[in-house]
Amino acid sequence: MDESDRRIIDNLHAFADREIVPIEEALGATFTNPRLHYDETGKETPAITDARRRARMKSAEAGFYTMFCSKKFGGEDLGIRLWFLCWESMFHRYGMPKTQLVYEILSTFFSGPHEVWNHASEELRAEVMPGLATGKLQGCFGLTEPDAGSDSWMMRTQAVRDGSDWIINGSKQWTTNSPTADFIMLYAVTDKAMLTARKGGVTCFYVPTSTPGFKVESVLSILGELGGNEGILSFTDMRVPDKYRIGELNRGFDLAMLGVRHGRLANAGRTLGTARWALEKAIDYAKVRRTFGAALAEHQTIQNYLADATIKLYAGRLMALDAATKADLGRDIRTEASMAKAFCTQAAFEIIDKCMQIHGGMGLANETKLYQALHQARATHVTEGPNEIQRRSIAQNLLRGRVDLTFE
Ligand SMILES: Cc1cc2nc3c(=O)[nH]c(=O)nc-3n(C[C@H](O)[C@H](O)[C@H](O)COP(=O)(O)OP(=O)(O)OC[C@H]3O[C@@H](n4cnc5c(N)ncnc54)[C@H](O)[C@@H]3O)c2cc1C
Repeated sequence: MDESDRRIIDNLHAFADREIVPIEEALGATFTNPRLHYDETGKETPAITDARRRARMKSAEAGFYTMFCSKKFGGEDLGIRLWFLCWESMFHRYGMPKTQLVYEILSTFFSGPHEVWNHASEELRAEVMPGLATGKLQGCFGLTEPDAGSDSWMMRTQAVRDGSDWIINGSKQWTTNSPTADFIMLYAVTDKAMLTARKGGVTCFYVPTSTPGFKVESVLSILGELGGNEGILSFTDMRVPDKYRIGELNRGFDLAMLGVRHGRLANAGRTLGTARWALEKAIDYAKVRRTFGAALAEHQTIQNYLADATIKLYAGRLMALDAATKADLGRDIRTEASMAKAFCTQAAFEIIDKCMQIHGGMGLANETKLYQALHQARATHVTEGPNEIQRRSIAQNLLRGRVDLTFE
């Protein structure tokens, strides 16, 4: 890491210590107790939504929130290598459960300004960007539907032209942030023939969630939690002016893929950072916990667990850094990003699992928060392109001769 990257990361940590951690601490049990975190429908309570908003706004005020965005939106275009390093370092430093608020510090394509906005009209940007860039308002990303998950070409949500408007009908599910979001980046079919031929036919819209016809049907709770952030949505005759369209008609999937480089490397960074947090806890514990007359750390099997975890962390980190460095050089990193995402998320899960095992019963106790780390890493096997689908595209590129096996 060079001097300038180090300085930015140090400043980010100092900011989070000063402004974000106190928000979480002030919330106390509301933040950590699932019974207070979620309401009876599984939606996060207003205190949590407000805390997330305050975290974003503080970050925007301090100049961090949009620092990876284009200069056009007040960002600094800081590059993907530093993007990866920021996520990794924050998730390592703060661990569970603080990363829930730390997550808000940097704008993502799920939430705020991002590369996709280069393709929005001036009119839409003028309307939406002030709220998004200050963190006051938040978006969500609606691609997945009940019958269209890994295979987005099965999409059914439809937008039909009506004068200068579009009428949108359909549904989405698993839309992160949607229960509380102000906008949805919504993908809808605008040309069925193109969709059937798998040649396009999907268009991207950015729609206020206050639009009549938008409804959060329910909130999905996952992995034993009492609630969640992922909504099941329906759209009934939702009238959307054409100014809310982003990018070219029928080229929506190209825009969805713009989030990929950032998204996959952010996933790699967050999971590796959390895995390192868990590994350091396991190292500390192994030194003090004694069995059979010796510290756990003196038993060969435990040493192997620690060593294997370190090997995976090192391999994952190098892989992600290589992909990010190539992205910053303008190279096409679709295959590298898929490999880094699949490898790092899997490796992180295995590392955290072994760290739980090293803790014995304490590994399962809620107080060590290792289960939260495991849940987070497990979810990333499915989010932003399941790992099977990453492998599918790696293999396809390999078989088409598009992968340079020297990886230079
Ligand atoms: C916590 C969470 C947050 C999410 N957030 C969002 C969001 O904000 N916005 C959004 O649009 N979506 C979101 N998703 C949805 C996510 O992108 C989908 O769950 C994912 O694309 C998989 O779709 P599916 O669940 O329908 O699985 P399916 O497509 O039904 O696949 C089921 C399983 O089969 C595997 N599979 C499918 N096809 C193949 C194949 N050809 N070869 C090998 N294996 C295959 C898949 O990898 C998966 O393991 C989120 C999901 C989760 C769990």
